[in-house]
Amino acid sequence: MKALRKTRPERGAELLDIPVPAIGPTDVLVRVKAAAICGTDIHIYEWNEWAAQRIKLPMTFGHEFCGEVVEVGEQVTHLQPGDLIAGETHIPCGKCFQCQTGNQHACESMAIVGVHTEGVFSEFASIPAVCAWKLAPDTDPELGALLEPMGVATHGLLVEPVDGGSVAVIGCGPIGIFAAQIASALGAYPLFVLEINPYRLAMAQRIVPQAVGLNPAKDDVVGAIREATGGRGVDISVELSGSVPGTRLAFDLVCVGGRVSLVGLTGDPVTFNTSDDIIYKEVTVKGTTGRIMWKTWWQMDRLLAGGRLDPREVITHRFSLAEYAEAFDLARSGKAGKIILFP
Ligand code: ZN
Repeated sequence: MKALRKTRPERGAELLDIPVPAIGPTDVLVRVKAAAICGTDIHIYEWNEWAAQRIKLPMTFGHEFCGEVVEVGEQVTHLQPGDLIAGETHIPCGKCFQCQTGNQHACESMAIVGVHTEGVFSEFASIPAVCAWKLAPDTDPELGALLEPMGVATHGLLVEPVDGGSVAVIGCGPIGIFAAQIASALGAYPLFVLEINPYRLAMAQRIVPQAVGLNPAKDDVVGAIREATGGRGVDISVELSGSVPGTRLAFDLVCVGGRVSLVGLTGDPVTFNTSDDIIYKEVTVKGTTGRIMWKTWWQMDRLLAGGRLDPREVITHRFSLAEYAEAFDLARSGKAGKIILFP
């Protein structure tokens, strides 16, 4: 089979012919129908410090996918060949304290598909059956491939109810746009989308026209949002830019008694005055990682069943796996939404 492999500790990847993987007793073999490029994949492709510290070469990367089960391990009873699945990327151990207390997504010995194990930028992939979310057979594979990143937005936004309050989404990459779509579907008002990249801000406003778009590099974001919220600020700010200024802004924008959801990873320390930023304002700060297994997936199931939003609007480009170089150059440029690869 064809597989997009990372073979050398440098920028790039190679499309190679390798054997179809054998599966273990608790795995499923999947024919990959669509896979999406994530920021993590760009780190791996570019081979930055983050990737160099984590990735063991050689390996196939990629982890956001939808595919058809073609073979199941002998201990797998809930899936059959022919089932269409989307991939959860947390691989929980099932035995630790967190796994046994409902936090499988925060497992103490977590592995991640396509980071710690062989990924899905390939014609077939062996996946632990515990990572398979069964889809209705007529689901569009492109939609299935977006559920993993949409789940990051869903968990970050819905870790507590939205209740129609005002929401600011900071950072309009695909996950930020998903968060804005969900907030809009749940009646958030007013809804703000903040982004310094003009291409992405325009994309967010096109997909979520109910949202007010602001560019923190140009606009007086704090002033504009205070004015639109009776001087109070937003009930919920969701940080998805993964930047220090964006994280700082999440606290500047939130109202007294509001909630800050931190999802984007800055990698650098952020300075707070806990008295003014959190204590006197009685702000709730929630960090979220990935998706709750499987509460988040059920939440998405309900959101999508009603037709209130379509995450596929975030897809801007589609490539065959052989066109990976063009796809990754485009992904890095920042002038793309979600990019789908077809193995
Ligand atoms: Zn565990």
